[in-house]
Amino acid sequence: MITVIKNIEVYSPKYLGVKDVVIVDERIEGIYDNVRIPLDFISINKVNGEGKLLFPGFIDSHVHLIGGGGEGSFITRTRETTFEELIQSGITTVVGCLGTDNVCRDMRSLLAKVNLLKEKGLNAYCYTGSYEIPVKTITNNIKEDIMLIDNIIGIGEIALSDHRSSQPTFEEFIRVVSQARIGGLLSGKSGIVNIHLGEGKKKLNYLFRVKEETEIPLSQLLPTHINRNAELLEDGIKYALIGGYIDFTTSSNIEHLEPGEFFASKALKKALESDVPIEKITFTSDGNGSLPKYDEKGVEVGIGICKVSSLYEEVKKSIIEEKIPIEVAIKVITSNVAKLLKLKDKGEIKEKKSADLVIVDKKTLDIVNVFCKGKSLFNKESKENYKN
Ligand code: ZN
Repeated sequence: MITVIKNIEVYSPKYLGVKDVVIVDERIEGIYDNVRIPLDFISINKVNGEGKLLFPGFIDSHVHLIGGGGEGSFITRTRETTFEELIQSGITTVVGCLGTDNVCRDMRSLLAKVNLLKEKGLNAYCYTGSYEIPVKTITNNIKEDIMLIDNIIGIGEIALSDHRSSQPTFEEFIRVVSQARIGGLLSGKSGIVNIHLGEGKKKLNYLFRVKEETEIPLSQLLPTHINRNAELLEDGIKYALIGGYIDFTTSSNIEHLEPGEFFASKALKKALESDVPIEKITFTSDGNGSLPKYDEKGVEVGIGICKVSSLYEEVKKSIIEEKIPIEVAIKVITSNVAKLLKLKDKGEIKEKKSADLVIVDKKTLDIVNVFCKGKSLFNKESKENYKN
C-alpha cells in the first residue's frame, strides 16, 4: 500500500519545512517537495497535511503494561494498559516493565502482553526483571534473556535508593549491569538498565560510582523518576553533566504534586537551563503504575493510575508553557529514546525508517492521526479506528 501525506510541516525531529511524505508498506519511502500523482496511477491513500505537523511516532520506554501497584495491599493493584490508549496517545513503540510485585505479576504475562500489542500492530518490547536484585529471569540468566528472547531489550526497572528496593550492594548492582551489557553487545540490542530511583538519601550515588569505578559507559543506564523531588533533580542534572542519561516521569497528579515534585516539562526546562544537552534527556509515562491521590490538605485519599497519555501532554506543555522549541522538545520521546535503546529504525522521519508517524494540529498540537508501520491505526475524525 502507498500513502502520501501532502503539504505537511515535518519535524524529523529537525524542522524540514512543508513536505510530501511517501509511505510504502511499513516504511518511509521518501520526503519530497511536491509529489505529483498521475490520475491514472494505482490507487493511493492521500492524506491532506495542510495546517498540520508531522512528528515521528512516540516511544514510551517505561510502561507497566500488565499493571503495577499493589504496594498498599491487593486493593491497590492497577489495571493493564490497552492498545487503544497507547495508539490514541501517539505511542507507536512501547517498552513494558514489571514493578515491585514479581510474584503475582511475572515475565510470562508481560511477554504475552507484548505479543498481543505486536499482533495489534504496535512496536512493543519489554525489560526482564523487576525492582529486585537478584533479577528473576525467564531463562537461566540476564544475558540469555536478552540474547535469546526477541522482545527483551534490557532489564528493569531495578529499584535503587528506595525503601522498596532489594537494597543491593554496589557490587551486586554492577554485576547485573555487566550482564545486561554483555547480553546487549552479543545480540545487537542496547541491554539498557532501566533504574527506578526512590526518595532515598543515596540518590544517584551508585550511578556516579559506575562512572568513577568501572569501565561501563553511562549509555548502559537510564535512571528514571528524576523529577520526583528537587534534590534528586539536582543530582540528576549533575549526573547528566558528566555524561549520564536521565529520564523524567510524565505522570503526576495534576491537582496535587507531591512536595518538591516537578512536572516533567518544568524539569526539562530546568535541565536545559543548567546546560544539560537535550540528547541526554528522555521522558516516560510510567503508565499504569499506581499514583497516590491526595486531598487539598495533602492527606492520601486513594490510589489513581499513571496514564500513558501524559507522555505527549508533558511534551506539549514543554512547547506551549515552557516555550521550548518543538524540534528540541519532541526529541525526548522520539530520537533520543530510539538512539539510547538502539531501536535502529525508529524515532526519526527519514527515508527507509519505519513509518511510525503522528500528525498533530498546528494550532492546538492535539493528535489527529497516528500511523504505525505504515498503517493508520488512529484517526480522530474517523470511526474506523484501531484496525490493523
Ligand atoms: Zn518506578
